[in-house]
Amino acid sequence: MLKTGVFDILVIGGGITGAGIALDAAARGLKVALVEKQDFASGTSSKSTKLIHGGLRYLKNLEWKLVRETGHERRIACANAPHLVYPEHMLLPVVKGGSLSYWAASLGIYIYDRLAGVPSGQRRKMLSAEKTAALEPAFRRDHLLGGALYHEYRTDDARLTVEIMKTAATRGALCLNYCKAVEPLTEGGKLRGFRVHDEINDARFDIQARVVINAAGPWVDDIRKMDGSLSGKRLVLSKGVHLVVPYEKLPVKQSCYLDVFSQKGRMIFVIPRDGCTYIGTTDTFYEDPEHPDITLKDVEYLLNAVNAHFPAYPLKREDITGAWSGVRPLIYEEGKPSTELSRKDELMLSPSGLITIAGGKLTGYRKMAERAVDMAVQKGGLKAGPCITADLRLTGAEIPLPLDKYAYARAEECAQIPHTPQQVKDLVYRYGSETERIIADAYELYNADRQHPDPLAEAELRFCMAEEWVCKPADFYIRRTGMLYFRRHTIPAHRERFGKVYEQVSGFDASQNALFMKEFVSDYDTALIFA
Ligand SMILES: Cc1cc2nc3c(=O)[nH]c(=O)nc-3n(C[C@H](O)[C@H](O)[C@H](O)COP(=O)(O)OP(=O)(O)OC[C@H]3O[C@@H](n4cnc5c(N)ncnc54)[C@H](O)[C@@H]3O)c2cc1C
Repeated sequence: MLKTGVFDILVIGGGITGAGIALDAAARGLKVALVEKQDFASGTSSKSTKLIHGGLRYLKNLEWKLVRETGHERRIACANAPHLVYPEHMLLPVVKGGSLSYWAASLGIYIYDRLAGVPSGQRRKMLSAEKTAALEPAFRRDHLLGGALYHEYRTDDARLTVEIMKTAATRGALCLNYCKAVEPLTEGGKLRGFRVHDEINDARFDIQARVVINAAGPWVDDIRKMDGSLSGKRLVLSKGVHLVVPYEKLPVKQSCYLDVFSQKGRMIFVIPRDGCTYIGTTDTFYEDPEHPDITLKDVEYLLNAVNAHFPAYPLKREDITGAWSGVRPLIYEEGKPSTELSRKDELMLSPSGLITIAGGKLTGYRKMAERAVDMAVQKGGLKAGPCITADLRLTGAEIPLPLDKYAYARAEECAQIPHTPQQVKDLVYRYGSETERIIADAYELYNADRQHPDPLAEAELRFCMAEEWVCKPADFYIRRTGMLYFRRHTIPAHRERFGKVYEQVSGFDASQNALFMKEFVSDYDTALIFA
């Protein structure tokens, strides 16, 4: 048994849902542990479109409540983590043969804004064809009928998950990555915790808890199976692929939401970010959550869809510099295609007392967590305060100035060490006010070695290893920094430095270090191979 005794709540799954639950529970004064079988956010929570959005297309399925709730949650997420969730204009071109007429787009987004409580100055603007083309000169001009410019929010899904996890840890939650829940512990038919396998050290231990919450995303049914309670509602998985190209290959001026002409009713996003443009997503039923592959068919589908809108920038497979694929955990409904299945979440209680939370969206994580912890408190008879996460700032969120001004001030602080203003700005958009700690460490590194070529990069890595549970190279290059997706070309030069710091700080022996690096090299080498 873990020496820390009996927990009030054990959370299984370290995606955004589990992280949100750990934070909510810890903030209510509960004693909470969370286990994640791989790295935090290594499941769906690093493979999304990276939008905090109300889901315009859910209006089509008349999911008013979902749109209203996620719409409100967007503003809360932005207020609590302004460095990770920020407003973004989305441009929807109205085109000949598209799924929405000008008036349908106008009415639909009008309702969307009202449901989401968007302040009057920020509500949608309907545009003529000329104004739409002026905003996005790369659009195909001859089929353009007009456009709608409306309000959404951008994020970095994996970083948001890790930041929530860090905030939970500062409030006392025990958060363990690379620890897999393998066997329920029961007493008189009631669940009393889980046996956990430490995937790094190949050891087993028990975690006892009054209530267990299953937040394993696409794997929730595996946990329900272990608990003997997989009956009634079940999960169905739908795969979503995203592709990344260098920005100059598709230089969109803002995020766009576009019709897919080959599949009536389907839409895709095109989003500029970090010197790249990314495109997504597909939506097809899929079975294996462990290895969602990217097929040539997925690639063709996305490239054809986007090329139909930007004839001056025809994208080819060779232009792709990054890609990811994830699975949506959705609740099965008889006869519905994956695109029409609801994205709303559901709570299930098993006879043993296991609480499962399934479905949902990144955007609604806080509210999902509140509902799950409310149920745990009630069913487990736990003594807890009220939910306070609506007003709880995440770590890094204490930023006294507008974000860009804050980034500028931090860059000025770096005057005596090698840096670029963009590098400092990127740090601020990843770590918020914690950038100050990274800069302080970079100065120490530089003072110790005046020839150091990039003390900020090394300080960032050290920060992630010390404060953000980085265990394997992939944790850093994929989930903490997004380098594999958005700055793949910078990794080879960085890897030598990584190796040295990793050896000093990780505490693993040379053979383990070599094994983890080999795993990452394989991820790196195969990332752009499409089956
Ligand atoms: C292509 C795509 C695009 C999307 N875009 C958006 C978007 O733009 N905006 C939005 O709001 N939502 C979006 N979503 C939905 C959103 O990403 C998901 O709803 C959300 O990330 C699910 O989080 P989760 O924590 O429930 O699951 P996950 O992130 O998958 O986390 C579950 C975790 O449980 C762990 N686990 C499983 N079994 C065990 C075990 N036995 N022991 C310990 N740990 C275990 C897994 O390793 C995993 O990390 C998108 C989804 C997809 C697939």
